[in-house]
Amino acid sequence: ETSSTPLLSVDSVSKRFGGLTAVDTVSLKAWSGQMQCIIGPNGAGKSTLFNMLCGSESPTEGTILFQDIDITRLPLHRIARLGISRKFQVPSVFDELTVEDNLDLASKEHGAAAARRVDEVLETVQLSGQRTVKASELAHGQKQWLEIGIALMPVPQLLLLDEPTAGMTRDETQKTADLLKEVQAGISTIVIEHDMSFVRKLNCHTIVLHQGKLLKEGAFSDVEQDQTVREVYLGK
Ligand code: ADP
Ligand code: MG
Repeated sequence: ETSSTPLLSVDSVSKRFGGLTAVDTVSLKAWSGQMQCIIGPNGAGKSTLFNMLCGSESPTEGTILFQDIDITRLPLHRIARLGISRKFQVPSVFDELTVEDNLDLASKEHGAAAARRVDEVLETVQLSGQRTVKASELAHGQKQWLEIGIALMPVPQLLLLDEPTAGMTRDETQKTADLLKEVQAGISTIVIEHDMSFVRKLNCHTIVLHQGKLLKEGAFSDVEQDQTVREVYLGK
C-alpha cells in the first residue's frame, strides 16, 4: 500500500429524498493519518453524507470505495467490520454503566486483549481518572470524549465524528482539538463541525458543503478567505 492510494474514495455520490437532493454529486478522498473537516450551514447535507459513508443510508447515485472494496450498498454492520467507526450527533452512551464498561461493550476483543484496549482508549480520551464513574455522572465534555472512545474501541481505520464539540465549553473544545490531533496518528479522521474557531484550531484540509454540493475545498486558511464561502456561509 502506497500513500498515493486513498483509504476512502467517494465518487459523485448523491442522495435524494423525494424532490430534495440532500447530497448532490459529491466526491472526496481520505488517506490514513489525515484529518479533514466538513463544514457548511444547517441542512447542507453533512450528516447525510456521513450516513452514506457508514451505511445507515445508501446513495441514490455514485460509488464509495473503502480500501478498494465497493461499500456503496453494504449494510451498516459490514461497513463497521471493515473499519469505519462513527460518532453520531446524538449521544449513545449507557448512562447507568461506568466509563470502562461502556468502552468494554464496544470492544471486538475479549478478556486480556479487551482490557488492554480499554486502557489504551481511556488514555487517549483522557478519562483514565474516571474509569469507574457512571457515565451519567460525567461532565458534558467528558461524555463526548467517552463517545469518541467508544468509536475508537474497535480500532477503526476511518473515524467519522459528527459535531464532536456540540455544547462544549471553550476549555473542553480546546482539549478536544488536542485529543483529536493525537487520535489522528495512525487513522483517517473526518470531522463535521459548526464551530469555526475549532476548525481553525484543527487547521486541516476543509470541505465546504452548501445545498448538498461541494462548494470549496482546501487548507482551512484558504477556504476561510474564499469570497464565495464568505458570502454563502459566513454571510459576509
Ligand atoms: P446537515 O447535517 O448539513 O445539517 P443533513 O444532512 O442533516 O444536513 O440534511 C440535508 C437535507 O436533507 C436537509 O434539508 C434535511 O431536511 C434533509 N434530510 C435529511 N435526512 C432526511 C430524511 N431521512 N428524509 C427527508 N429529508 C431528509
Ligand atoms: Mg448534521
